[in-house]
Amino acid sequence: MGSTGSIGTQALEIIRNNPDKFRAVGLTCRSRVSSLIEQIREFKPLAVSVGTADDAEIVSAEFPGLEVYHGEEGLVEIAAMDCDIVLNSLMGISGLAPTYKAISCGRDIALANKETLVAGGELVTSLCRKMNVRLLPVDSEHSAIFQCLEGNGGSACGRAYREPDEGHPYRPIRRILLTASGGPFRGRSLESMKNVTIQQALNHPKWSMGSKITIDSATMMNKGLEVIEARWLFDVPAERIDIHVHPESIVHSMVEFMDGSVIAQMGLPDMKIPISLALNYPDRLDLVKPFDRNERDEKVSGALDFFTTGKNLTFEQPDRKVFRCIDLAYAALREGGSAPIVMNGANEELVAMFLGGEIGFTDIHDTIEKVMNKYPFTSPASVEEILHIDRKSRKLVREILSK
Ligand code: MN
Repeated sequence: MGSTGSIGTQALEIIRNNPDKFRAVGLTCRSRVSSLIEQIREFKPLAVSVGTADDAEIVSAEFPGLEVYHGEEGLVEIAAMDCDIVLNSLMGISGLAPTYKAISCGRDIALANKETLVAGGELVTSLCRKMNVRLLPVDSEHSAIFQCLEGNGGSACGRAYREPDEGHPYRPIRRILLTASGGPFRGRSLESMKNVTIQQALNHPKWSMGSKITIDSATMMNKGLEVIEARWLFDVPAERIDIHVHPESIVHSMVEFMDGSVIAQMGLPDMKIPISLALNYPDRLDLVKPFDRNERDEKVSGALDFFTTGKNLTFEQPDRKVFRCIDLAYAALREGGSAPIVMNGANEELVAMFLGGEIGFTDIHDTIEKVMNKYPFTSPASVEEILHIDRKSRKLVREILSK
């Protein structure tokens, strides 16, 4: 789902290179219909979903016999298809209802859509346990944590997860050390960020990603969302999740255990690693050249070389006074209920407004804070209620900014 985006196209590359292992039975896109049409020609899915009814007509005309859905309901139709695993790389809150549907159909989930867990963490993870499905992280940091935890007292939510109180009281995790690149504005003052341009904010130093997540990386809201995501995936409380800014982006996250041992997962920054592990779990795919002791050059081998790229790994504290979204996310997680949903909805609306040139960069965190302070606390118990809170928080953003 989200097959024409950054994660989606990389996943299809993996599928293309491993035709004996994978087949894409459903694809979805929001607006890149011409890319989707090319993907349909190559991968021959059984059904697809597009953004609008008009786009659905265009695709249907091109491929008679193909099932073509559209809109939010279309995403839910694709999520309910018969398959082994649903890769959700949709953008924002639109990923929640399809994830919930796929889990209720008993499908394993490869989750690249962190907003699903930010807004629906409790609902989604409890359904995973009930339905005995795996929630496999595709976010690079969470894939790292997942890999560090395997065989060490916990794993990702669902079937692979070990409940601490169900015959396995042993839970040796002391802290999760969540790494962050720091984004394009690392080291900047709050004052100097007021007038940054859209292009500057979109210029991420390490990762090439969609525009929403790239802006989230610039504000470091992405890391805040990832703290919440980690809380739900690994059932570790917020105060045991520590952000470590690591500009080299080689350590993708670490887990510290109660004996002081720390396990890190490392590699060149390449989303194909977490995508392929989630799709092929528990096995790994050949993504780099077979080992040759005469050939160390990582440009040839594709594997991390510690004598060059991995030589200097540095870590620093995030500047929480500048990147205020971090504290807003911790506060939302502590408060629970509607708070993370309101924060996420306001953030999504504000990022779109920033990308549309309607507001300045620091208006994002300023306005999220105002919306969070104004929104009355509720405890949603369904996807519908969550989506209702999301819509109301976006409306509140517009109201506050129009004053
Ligand atoms: Mn990430």
